[in-house]
Amino acid sequence: MSESSALRVLQGLPASGGLAFGRCHMLNSDSSPRELGLPDDEMDIFEAARSESESELQRLIEQSDELGGEILEFQAMLLEDDSILGPVRSRISKGEPADAAWSAVLDGEISEYEEMESEYLAARAVDLKDLRERVLRSMAEPGSVQREIDCGAVIVADVLGPSAFLEIDWTRAGGLALGRDSATGHVAILARSRGVPMIVGVNGICDIAHGRAVLLDGDAGTLTVGSSRQLSKRHEQLADRLEKNRAATASFSFSPAKTKAGRRITVSINVGDPAALVSIDPKICDGIGLVRTEFLFARGELPSEDVQTRQYRRIVNWAQGRPVTIRTLDAGGDKPVPGLTVDGESNPFLGTRGLRLSLLNPDSFKTQLRAIARAAALGPVKAMLPMVTATSEFMLAREHLDDALADLEQDGARYARPELGIMVETPAAALTAGEWPTDFYSIGSNDLVQYVTACARDNPDLSNLSDPMHPAVLELIGRTIQAANRRGVEASLCGEMASMPSMVPVLLSLGLEAFSVDPSNVAQVKMAIAEFEDA
Ligand code: PEP
Ligand code: MG
Repeated sequence: MSESSALRVLQGLPASGGLAFGRCHMLNSDSSPRELGLPDDEMDIFEAARSESESELQRLIEQSDELGGEILEFQAMLLEDDSILGPVRSRISKGEPADAAWSAVLDGEISEYEEMESEYLAARAVDLKDLRERVLRSMAEPGSVQREIDCGAVIVADVLGPSAFLEIDWTRAGGLALGRDSATGHVAILARSRGVPMIVGVNGICDIAHGRAVLLDGDAGTLTVGSSRQLSKRHEQLADRLEKNRAATASFSFSPAKTKAGRRITVSINVGDPAALVSIDPKICDGIGLVRTEFLFARGELPSEDVQTRQYRRIVNWAQGRPVTIRTLDAGGDKPVPGLTVDGESNPFLGTRGLRLSLLNPDSFKTQLRAIARAAALGPVKAMLPMVTATSEFMLAREHLDDALADLEQDGARYARPELGIMVETPAAALTAGEWPTDFYSIGSNDLVQYVTACARDNPDLSNLSDPMHPAVLELIGRTIQAANRRGVEASLCGEMASMPSMVPVLLSLGLEAFSVDPSNVAQVKMAIAEFEDA
């Protein structure tokens, strides 16, 4: 087999751009037998298991008393002992599977120790067996041991929830590949906001052995499995190309977005995790078009008004006078909040989510509105209502806002009235857009696409049908923009569609003048706007 024919390219969908090259770090996998790889691959698997076992032992040593520490030190030493490693490596390079080679060498050592007369040395056989099992477990049963993440490792799993994503140490892990989920799911949104390269919808992902070298291309949506030698060459070439592209687009970051004819277009950013703002310069954008406030509710506790106010004020201060659009809680659907969202709904995407849930919990809704109004005293703030279908919902929400403002007035608090707008995420809202007495519209294309095409946004099997370019989706976006224009208020688009440079010409042709995008896409989107010729 030629060297390059050993590369296996798994195609998925791009979810967050960039490259990650490292060892596969398998999560949640079952221990099905793996295929035998080429000697280079088997060597990678062995070295990964060895280094992982070493890290585990070091951790255990630190936690142990003197005696336990001594026993574990002996095991750790064996993992560096050339009289053991040499024969294992030699067997692997002759074509033996990594686990078989390791077992054969360890079994030989174990029987030698067992035959020793000294009781002390014979007891060492037990340690060797323990070590044999630790390394084998690491090769064969990913997920069964508490793993240290190797620097640059690519996390691979069939599914991963947002909270699990947040538990991973992304200063060590380099990328994420999932068998399921979608590019508009919340894990993908988090990955983009943290600059973690990610792909989704990769078939056969769970067959990759833990420890194999992999190269993830978040722009092409691919995961290539091969030997570290081959992949490192490919990684170098791709990284070089990526760097050149980045340099070409970076020049657009700080200039205001304009079409070729000089027409000014607003480019704001989406914020899912305010911690990410620390590394973003507000000068790259015209404001924040969407703050997803679910981050505050992730632990299932209702944050107090003061906690929320502090968080929102921090964001408003960061924006330095640019408008900040804070969305009220959008729990439910693909964003369950334990203890708050309704359990057991047969179809949560069509259930009690977004504003529906807030209206069922008026006290917590009012708390959030009060906090938003208090933050609005520091700069221009808009409050945005998610998942609406009927104008009556808007009227009720506005009553709650009026009540909240009246209470703040009575309390002598410092506050300002935020503009109140809606997200257009349902066909009902889009088709009746002109009838809403809203201060602004923000088109949520992630949900709009799912409700128009009847394709769940977290189902990668439907990705070919879940098409933002579907004529029905474009029709509804166009209608919303026209309704906003007639009413003289702003229509922006904050779904992931706005972050895709390839969609920019279509959206501009539909009359869109305000984009709210993932921070990592600002430069590319501005470049696509600059290339657009006004009719
Ligand atoms: C949308 O639906 O397009 C949107 C921006 O909201 P979310 O992705 O948070 O549901
Ligand atoms: Mg939505």
